[in-house]
Amino acid sequence: MQKKALIIGTGLGGLATALRLTSRGYEVEMLEKHHQAGGRLNQIKKDGFTFDTGPSFFSMSYEFDELFEDCGVANPLQMNELNPVYTVYFANREKPFFIYKELSKLAKEFEGIEDNFEEKARAYLKQAGELFHDTENVIVKRNYDTLLQYAVSLLKVPLKHSPLLLRNMWQELSRRFDSQEVKVIFSLVAFFLGDTPFKTPAVYSLLNYTELEHDGYYNIQGGMYKIAEEIVSILIKRGVKIHYDTEIVNVLSNNGSVDGFVDQNGKVWKGDFYVCNSDAASFRGKILQRKKYSEAKLDKMHWTLAPFTIYLGVNGKIDNLHHHNYFLGDNFEQYADKIFKTSVSPQKPYYYVNVSSKSNPNCAPQGCENLFILCPVPDLRFKPDWSDREELADNILKDMSNRLGFDLIKNRITQTIFDPIDWQDKFNLYRGSGLGLAHGLNQVAALRPKNKDEEFDNLYYVGASTTPGTGLPIVVIGSKLVTQRIENDFAISNATVQSGLQQV
Ligand SMILES: Cc1cc2nc3c(=O)[nH]c(=O)nc-3n(C[C@H](O)[C@H](O)[C@H](O)COP(=O)(O)OP(=O)(O)OC[C@H]3O[C@@H](n4cnc5c(N)ncnc54)[C@H](O)[C@@H]3O)c2cc1C
Repeated sequence: MQKKALIIGTGLGGLATALRLTSRGYEVEMLEKHHQAGGRLNQIKKDGFTFDTGPSFFSMSYEFDELFEDCGVANPLQMNELNPVYTVYFANREKPFFIYKELSKLAKEFEGIEDNFEEKARAYLKQAGELFHDTENVIVKRNYDTLLQYAVSLLKVPLKHSPLLLRNMWQELSRRFDSQEVKVIFSLVAFFLGDTPFKTPAVYSLLNYTELEHDGYYNIQGGMYKIAEEIVSILIKRGVKIHYDTEIVNVLSNNGSVDGFVDQNGKVWKGDFYVCNSDAASFRGKILQRKKYSEAKLDKMHWTLAPFTIYLGVNGKIDNLHHHNYFLGDNFEQYADKIFKTSVSPQKPYYYVNVSSKSNPNCAPQGCENLFILCPVPDLRFKPDWSDREELADNILKDMSNRLGFDLIKNRITQTIFDPIDWQDKFNLYRGSGLGLAHGLNQVAALRPKNKDEEFDNLYYVGASTTPGTGLPIVVIGSKLVTQRIENDFAISNATVQSGLQQV
């Protein structure tokens, strides 16, 4: 008999899991708090402009190929590789650094700044690459039932990598490079994990390998939201029902199993099993009332930085702005160390800007540009009041206008701001944390909230705060891991699997 999955949340984790489950013959129904699918990977359409709300690029593109292949459909996404991968503007330097994938070309950017850059970078990336390949399958892409299993996996990682466990990313980069510019640029990947390089363990130098040597960075032709749209379109063809504006607020249970989830209107939703794509830590606390995840305990956990995002449509083309741009000040250590634990907005903010109209002209009216601006800020534990949001936005726009020689404020056609309160309220992100639980060594693998519930035998989790972690390709891997668990626990007949694979 066909088994039914009820999935709470239509973020990438929920959508990818739905795709895998329908391919295996399971019936799927989905509930979503927001008015459209995608979670953080969302879209705003306003005043003739289209904006992606969150992710603007990703690594490990092969995980998307694997997802669609696993589900018997051709990958409908046109993934475009980025090179240069991004551009970095420093406050005290007019010309930006172009971060090319080819090290010989990249070395020219650092001429007169870092002696023997190419040689040093090759040695650094060699070590990072070895670590990546020694851990990708052994540690990251697997489920853990016990701490012992995790310990055994760790023993399979060659000992030569262990010194990286003792250092943070900044310390590792300082051993390898001399110039502030190279150290700062290579350490930007720490922010992709949602933290500063001073808090991020040196093992994540493997991300420099993924961006520069391994698979690189990609975006999607037509905009990042295509990822959500294409998956939803396949799911609809497969008969999956998605109910929007439906937020789960309570659970019904019976004898160690979930017996249904209750939405904000009191309606009860049922399945044979349940997959939660809401934050795996805060859902356990807020909805399941688990003591281990009480508000006080959640607040003590290590959360990633909160995003402050501006979606800006301007009249005019900005030639010296590229697809992906970082605007940095000249006080990196002091900034990164202090700003994220204070209750004041940064006066001289550091920020990232993506202009998707550079490669997708349909995202902006003719002669206009759409800017997505992301400034990492303290989460709501440290700064609960965002009544100064317009001031911070104008601060950023003035700074960028000065640096680009283009008046963004005068040419502004449309502007939408999401502060950490918006991120919290729209998608239930704990205290507005952008990427969910951080990836310190005490919050990864078997030490992260599990993708199978500790008490209910028919409840699973997928998404940024469960295993393996955050970021688009990692969440796609998470959908594979949770599907393996479900197949183990709720096996269905071969005939049903075949009928699933023959679907659209
Ligand atoms: C500003 C920003 C920029 C980012 N940039 C990048 C990037 O460039 N590259 C990259 O790889 N990653 C990036 N990320 C991270 C990436 O977006 C996330 O890791 C990924 O999208 C998380 O997916 P998820 O499956 O955890 O689902 P989420 O996106 O968290 O979706 C969960 C869904 O569940 C719904 N939900 C929650 N609670 C309930 C409930 N109780 N009832 C019903 N529905 C509920 C929410 O509304 C939401 O739609 C970025 C994130 C942010 C915020």
